[in-house]
Amino acid sequence: MQWQKELEILGAALEKLQNNFGYPIHETNVNYASLEKVLSEVADKMGDNYPYFDPNYAGQMLKPPHPIARLAYTLAMHINPNNHALDGGRASSSLEKEAVAEIANMFGWQEHLGHLTGGGTMANMEALWIARKIHPDKIVVASEMAHYTHERISEVVGLGFSKVGCDNLGRMDASALEEILKTKNVGTVVCTLGTTGTGSVDPLTEILPLQKKYNFRIHVDAAYGGYFKLAENLAPETTEQYANIHHADSIVIDPHKHGLQPYGCGCILFKDPLVGGYYQHNSPYTYFSSAELHLGEISLECSRAGAAAVALWATMKYFPIKPKSDFANGLEKCHSAALKLYEHIENDEASISLFKPEIDIVVWAPTGSSLSSISAKSNEIFEKTAKKGVHLALIKIPVKLLSNEWDNIEKDQEYVTCLRSCLMKHQHIDWVDRIWETIKDVSH
Ligand SMILES: *Cc1c(COP(=O)(O)O)cnc(C)c1O
Repeated sequence: MQWQKELEILGAALEKLQNNFGYPIHETNVNYASLEKVLSEVADKMGDNYPYFDPNYAGQMLKPPHPIARLAYTLAMHINPNNHALDGGRASSSLEKEAVAEIANMFGWQEHLGHLTGGGTMANMEALWIARKIHPDKIVVASEMAHYTHERISEVVGLGFSKVGCDNLGRMDASALEEILKTKNVGTVVCTLGTTGTGSVDPLTEILPLQKKYNFRIHVDAAYGGYFKLAENLAPETTEQYANIHHADSIVIDPHKHGLQPYGCGCILFKDPLVGGYYQHNSPYTYFSSAELHLGEISLECSRAGAAAVALWATMKYFPIKPKSDFANGLEKCHSAALKLYEHIENDEASISLFKPEIDIVVWAPTGSSLSSISAKSNEIFEKTAKKGVHLALIKIPVKLLSNEWDNIEKDQEYVTCLRSCLMKHQHIDWVDRIWETIKDVSH
């Protein structure tokens, strides 16, 4: 059994860790009979889940953490460090700084200010909070396909918000953006590299010249798509957007999406380390151990799992985040798997694809005479494939994003429900033909 091997390795590492202290790191007063009973009940309850770890799960954005991440997290949890301050997490804070610097490096920044967060939402909140400090009276704009969190966060930090329309590839329409820039006082443009719904990559190369003309901050939300910076098989125009990411003022990436981490690991990066000045606060009780930077001094969140930083550092040691590495190759396979599924859809009379996948998300629909009948069929396929053990997701696409391929289809509602698949596992490249067979099978 794989986990027996893993528990053996974990046992040896725990022993080594304990030897560093010279006395037991374990709670000694444990009723193991009761513990076993409760844990077994947990195992039963956790069976009520989709099999996220299985390649036949190709629905929402769920990717299993790598064993190195799980084991390093568990190991660190025996110390339970808190990366709020060096007092609570000396070693894990230093690993966090190293890991975050390497991520900044991946984006082309030798200098940066940044840290890990509970997730992409908190990381984006920090970006928009700093945006507000810099431009207190100006609004935030993001595309209509950007993550809904930006509109909500703008409300939380007290900034106005406006949506920019998209082209029929789900990317921000730069001319629509310019119309807004002409009439509104825009402080920050959120540019999404890999939208959550469709994996579309906003045209950063068209937004950059507008920045020169209208002077706003660019916040890149790459929570989902950030690691695709390393993939070398993307379409040239997609690659071009990633190649310009270093021009952003701030970047968000979620190691718990494509970085093989368990949940609880987002990351915010700022290009200008001087934004650190905006975080200044007076805490009378936290920082005593040294004059060195405590992560809590540059973070909105206070207590944070040091174990998350340890897991990320260990994973990046195991899989360096470099181009042409095994890690990069895994992402390239995800993109290839998406293209393979797209080809099947394109060659199938009974399906319409919505757009060619830019990264690893595929959106398509069964053919039909009206949006309502297509939506009903999508729902049906979603349910039927699940019964056969293949798990997809659904997405509602607004009518105005539909291309002229949809001209003869009756628009009897405002949106169409489509099928959506996030092919996030490198194994998907070997499974996608079988996944398609199942989809075809239930569609007749
Ligand atoms: C997932 C995601 C978020 C939100 O991040 P969480 O980690 O779920 O809090 C924000 N933006 C994009 C583009 C995302 O894909």
